[in-house]
Amino acid sequence: MKECPSCHKLIEDTDCFCSYCGCRLDSIPYKEKEPQYQGNYSAHRQSSEDMPSLGYALLGFFLPVIALFVYSKQKDNYPTRAASLLHGAFVKLVLWVIILFK
Ligand SMILES: [Zn+2]
Repeated sequence: MKECPSCHKLIEDTDCFCSYCGCRLDSIPYKEKEPQYQGNYSAHRQSSEDMPSLGYALLGFFLPVIALFVYSKQKDNYPTRAASLLHGAFVKLVLWVIILFK
C-alpha cells in the first residue's frame, strides 16, 4: 500500500490514479519504465539467439534440402542463424564445383 500525495488516503501500489480523489500518482513513470525494460530484454534475448550457428552450417553442408526447409522457417525470426544454413550449403556447392572441374 502507498499513500495518495493529494488526499493522503491509503491506495494500492498498482493504482495509476487515486480511487478516492482521482489524483494522478507518481507510480506512472515506474509503470512506463517496466515495459521498456522488458522490450530491451526481449530484444537482447533475440539478438543473443540469432547468432551464426556451426550446427546449422553443418546441417546446410550435409543435408542442404533440409537446411533450405529450416531456413525458410527461421529466416524471419533468426536471419543471422538461418544464414548459417546457406553458408554450409554454399560451401558444399563450392566443393562440388571444385571436385567436378578438377
Ligand atoms: Zn487521493
